[in-house]
Amino acid sequence: MFEDSNHHQESLKPKNIGSVVMLLVGLMIHDVSEGISLGLCTTFDDTFQMFMAIFLHKWCEQVCQAICGIREGLSFKQNMAFLVPLCMATPIAQITAFFIIYFTTGSGELPLTALVVQDCFMSFAAGTFIGIMFEEVIAVEMTESNNKKSLIFKLLTFLLGFALISSVSIYEWASNK
Ligand SMILES: [Zn+2]
Repeated sequence: MFEDSNHHQESLKPKNIGSVVMLLVGLMIHDVSEGISLGLCTTFDDTFQMFMAIFLHKWCEQVCQAICGIREGLSFKQNMAFLVPLCMATPIAQITAFFIIYFTTGSGELPLTALVVQDCFMSFAAGTFIGIMFEEVIAVEMTESNNKKSLIFKLLTFLLGFALISSVSIYEWASNK
């Protein structure tokens, strides 16, 4: 009985915790960057657009992290220890950036330097996301599967996702014209 449960514990030992930690670090940098850019938004339109951008892909980050943990053999509790900090990163960064601006400017009007900082963090958030997607998700997903059918299925789903988001952008661009 005891031996059995010990054996079970053993099988839950993560295979490669390094890759889970690396993904968390990458996503954390990304999440803090997007949190700062959201916190530095002062108009409703900017805030709403930024909020929607984050809202639309946030689940994707959490799913990536969770799947990475499951793939490496983490238990539910161990995986949660990675997911909870990831959930908190963006809101904490946002609140911090908001209060810094609120208390340093008083008016809520952003000085030029803050606008530059916001742009930098927004671009940084986009860059880190693209990097993580290609290195940690697409590269891992596309090579680890040896089955040709599932590889084609994954590739098609990937292209479908890209097409969907692209068409939303085209629609936005067309309706703003
Ligand atoms: Zn994000």
